[in-house]
Amino acid sequence: EDAEVVLRARGLSKRFGGITAARNIDLELRRGTITALVGPNGAGKTTAFNLLTGTVVPDTGSVLLNGVELVGTRPDLVVRAGLVRTFQDVRLLGRLTCLENVMLAVPDQDGERIGRLLRPGVARADREVAARALEWLDFVGLADRAETPADALSYGQSKLVSLARALATRADVLLLDEPASGVDAAWVDTMLQMVAAVRAEGRTICLVEHNLDVVRELADHACFMELGEITASGTVAELTGSARLADAYFGAQ
Ligand code: ATP
Repeated sequence: EDAEVVLRARGLSKRFGGITAARNIDLELRRGTITALVGPNGAGKTTAFNLLTGTVVPDTGSVLLNGVELVGTRPDLVVRAGLVRTFQDVRLLGRLTCLENVMLAVPDQDGERIGRLLRPGVARADREVAARALEWLDFVGLADRAETPADALSYGQSKLVSLARALATRADVLLLDEPASGVDAAWVDTMLQMVAAVRAEGRTICLVEHNLDVVRELADHACFMELGEITASGTVAELTGSARLADAYFGAQ
């Protein structure tokens, strides 16, 4: 039997001037599964993440997370509701340590995070938060870098820290923007194992990925986007086996 739908987007559209970056996007993410968004550059994959997480407000459409409408909700409250994303360009705070970067995402009992951002020095004092952040750094294999400034990390390591930061929010649904791209070869397998381990915990993942080997290895479902639209979806085998998509995209790999 199919797993329960955790996130259901319907009819999401967004125009930027003359460009339709997203057109009538429908997306369902099922608990404990990995869905890949694939398609050529400029197809609208990052825009789809922006619309789902409130970074960009859609012109039309709905995003239900466990039945709760997210459209119109501030991005930080979207995280608190249980949906978190990473960015293609990572976006750690370079002068803070790895541990401090992850601590910023650990929710207090009342779910508050922002206060720690505004009070420098407080972060280090909060032992319980630090202990939890260290557990997430350990999960991605980087506990030994806890005191390293984020801007001293390799690109692959910084992507792993950004994954630890996303996990630390405890959000149930993770949107990962190209988690393996640009990651040093030595770290790609670690990253793939981490993502699979997160699925095994019962969290739900949607990822943008250009590397089709990664998609084949990780994803349960895939959606193919072109010109702002999802034009095909199905199992990864169905999509990569499609003659039309092979011509349009997969054949070019
Ligand atoms: P890539 O794989 O290169 O990251 P993508 O599939 O993520 O591409 P988007 O970045 O979502 O594609 O872009 C979709 C289209 O929307 C592009 O034509 C892009 O130029 C346009 N676009 C996205 N954001 C904006 C914005 N804030 N203002 C204007 N145009 C935008």
